[in-house]
Order: sequence, then C-alpha cells, then structure tokens
Amino acid sequence: MKRVISLLLCIAMLPLVLCCCDSVTDEYTDEMFALDTFISFKMVGDEDVVNTTIEKCKSEIKRLEDLLSATKSSSDVYAINNANSDKVSVSEETAQLIIKACEISKTCNGAFDISVYPLVKLWGFDTKEYLVPKPESIAQTKALVDYTKVNVSADSFVSLCEGMSIDLGAIAKGYIGDKLWKIMKQSDISRGLVNLGGMVVTCDNSDDYDYTIGVEYPDTGEVFAKYSTEYPFSVTSGAYQRYFEQDGVRYHHIIDTQSGYPSQSDISSVTVIGNKGVDNDALSTAFFVMGIDKTLEYLNTHTDEDGSNYSVVILNADKSKVYVSQDILDSGFELSANFEEKIEICEIK
Ligand code: ADP
Ligand code: MG
Repeated sequence: MKRVISLLLCIAMLPLVLCCCDSVTDEYTDEMFALDTFISFKMVGDEDVVNTTIEKCKSEIKRLEDLLSATKSSSDVYAINNANSDKVSVSEETAQLIIKACEISKTCNGAFDISVYPLVKLWGFDTKEYLVPKPESIAQTKALVDYTKVNVSADSFVSLCEGMSIDLGAIAKGYIGDKLWKIMKQSDISRGLVNLGGMVVTCDNSDDYDYTIGVEYPDTGEVFAKYSTEYPFSVTSGAYQRYFEQDGVRYHHIIDTQSGYPSQSDISSVTVIGNKGVDNDALSTAFFVMGIDKTLEYLNTHTDEDGSNYSVVILNADKSKVYVSQDILDSGFELSANFEEKIEICEIK
C-alpha cells in the first residue's frame, strides 16, 4: 500500500494546486520566475543533494527558455520567425520538438498548431498590449496558420512560408517538464515536485508515495477537486489563465485556429494526466479548443507513444459537470466539500 501524501498548499493564480508532505523534516522548497510564470520546487532528501538537483532544474529551465522562447532574440524560434522564410539551422532538440508538435497537430486536426503565432500576435498576447482585431485582419492572418507548411529537414534546418511564424508556448513547458522529471529521477532525492504554473511534475524515487494534486476552480483559485496519482505529469489549460476584457467580453489566450478568435469552448478547464509531459501539454491546449465531445472521442481512439491512455479531468463551461477518467476516479478523485452540491461527476467510460 502506498502512503498518500496529503495537505494541499495553494499557490495563488496558478491553475493547479499541489501537495506537500506532512511533517517531513528533510523537505526543501525554492522558486524562480521563468517562462512568464512563477515556478516552485519542493524536494525531499539530503539538503546538499536537493540543492544540487534544484540548481540543475533551474539551469535546464533557463537553457530551454533561451532556446524555445518566441520573444527572446537568442532563441532558435526567434531565428526561424525572423528568417523571411529562409532555411534556418537550429539545434536538433528544437527541430525534434517542432516535428513532435506537428505530429500532435495531425492527430487533432490542427486544434493545437504551433503556427498560430501570427494570430497570437494580432491579439497582442505576445506583448500583453491586447486589442480586439478587425474581422478582416483576423481572416487574413488566419490564412497564415497551417502546421503542414512548417518544414523541418533531417539535418535540422527549419523553414516557414512567407508571413508565417511559430510559437511553442503550448508545448515547451511539457517538454521542459519531461527534462525536469529525468533530472529528479537520476538524482538521489527521495521525491520531488515542480509546479510550472499550469503544469505539475512529480517524481518519486522512494516508491513510497502517491501525490495528491488539487485542481483549481477557475477565477476563484479554490481547490474544487483532488486526486491521487502515480503519473508524473498533470497539465491544465483554461480560459481563466491569461485573458483581457473589453466591453464586458473576455478574450483569453487559447486561439481556435479555425475561427481565428479565442476558442468558444464548452470547457472551462481541462487537466491532462499521464506519463508524457510534452504530449499532455500540447493536448491540454488541443482539448480546450476541441471541446468535450471531440475530446472524449479522441481519448477513445488515441494513446501516447507507449500505448498508455491519457487521463483527464474536464470542468465544463458552466461549471456544473466534471468529466473524469475512470482511473482517476478509482485513485481517489473527490470534490471538495463546498463543491459537492454544485458539480456533478461524470465518469468517462
Ligand atoms: P499556458 O501556456 O498558459 O500554460 P497552454 O499550454 O494552453 O497554456 O498554451 C497557450 C499558449 O499557446 C498561448 O499563450 C499561445 O502562445 C499558444 N497558443 C494559443 N492557441 C494555441 C493553439 N490553438 N495551438 C497551439 N498554441 C496555441
Ligand atoms: Mg498546453
């Protein structure tokens, strides 16, 4: 029997809430600001080993942010976006991640599409100077979005068609999460947790613990539900994470590439739980755009590359129903007391 760690620690403004351990003396915490969010670390083990592990994680985050950010002029992505459709030589890592992103796009008919960046910029989500664009501009810009026109050669040259640009914002955190998990796995800490704002990575080297993950209620920051899991990656996408309001309408940062507008989803938040950070991150964005029915269909017809199912917790738009995969229900999913009357649990078969 695994011992379940309890005690939820709420981090304000982050979409997922994480667990900590009860009365553990060799637990250490740290934090940093990167990837446009607060990142927190919590690890258990010998102090020196934990410190070294946290430092390795921090440098890996910085290294990959410098490589993959769309706004840092040092990055591979910046070079690709500013090459006027010429071929650009990038690191093999960047090339492979772009290939992976396009493979995922294919599975979800472009609901997740890294070539969305012209639309992200048009709405001002890159600079935070937001505006509601004119319908003509949206139509013109939308025509530039097409992941099938992102070319990656075997020797890591990338080129785009004229006017196109890419943004790895919906997948980079997942990729980084995979790297952090490996660092923690290869270290001598007994367990560790990194919260990257919307993504929780857990690693258990002692084989004694499951983690309890809390799911944040959109807008209020309350924990509306929690579940225990041995899966290392939980990634949440939601309309409440980054948005602006104009004339009483909320415009959020996840774009429906079909319409060119922020997705009019029937989902208010979707958490994807599984063994692959990179897939979970891209799919949390895709599922948000696809809505509930198409997501349930996807879950029935797709697995990750190791053949494991993806597990999800989906809160619908009016927050009256939460759709939960069976394995998550079986591993102790429960609503918090003040949400029991308000939210109906629907099992995903
Ligand atoms: P967050 O980055 O807030 O954790 P997501 O993983 O859902 O949330 O990624 C959203 C980011 O990805 C947006 O800020 C934008 O840069 C980019 N993006 C927006 N819509 C899409 C889309 N349909 N496909 C791929 N990337 C998107
Ligand atoms: Mg994502």
